[in-house]
Amino acid sequence: MVHMHSMASREIRIYPDPVLRNKTARVEKIDSSLDRLIEDMIVTMHAAPGVGLAANQVGVALQLAVIDLSSRENEEQRHPLLVIINPEILSAEGSVTEEEGCLSIPDYAEKVKRAARIKVRAQDRTGKFFEVDAEGLLAKALQHEIDHLNGVLFVDRLSPLKKNIFKRRYKKMKAE
Ligand SMILES: [Zn+2]
Repeated sequence: MVHMHSMASREIRIYPDPVLRNKTARVEKIDSSLDRLIEDMIVTMHAAPGVGLAANQVGVALQLAVIDLSSRENEEQRHPLLVIINPEILSAEGSVTEEEGCLSIPDYAEKVKRAARIKVRAQDRTGKFFEVDAEGLLAKALQHEIDHLNGVLFVDRLSPLKKNIFKRRYKKMKAE
């Protein structure tokens, strides 16, 4: 007998939902329910559409994120869809300041300073450990998603002045 799971889009939690502030727990068991969550997260990310999604953005406080940059890259330099479980930044160098947005903070984008190059170790969806050396868009996406897993949002990395502007704009957006 074949059990079919129809992939489902999950609700994306929006700032200031407290689940976005929780530090997520390590994934200890890679099983079929985790695989279902990964499938749902991929569907949710594509439907949004977005280039990355962390598990706590759909209300699950686990160290898991998906990244798909293919819509932003040329065919020659396209990265495959990435599933990262229990990721860890091993090293970070340089710095770049580029615009970021977040599916949990709709209609807002601002420049954020990040490391230019990073090395990340994580597990894939089969549980196998791998390392990735990233720069450019991938480095930015990895840092953004790993921040999520630590309860950190990109607006936390803004200067105090820009943070204030964000808070005022956000209050206005909520009132509309
Ligand atoms: Zn985000």
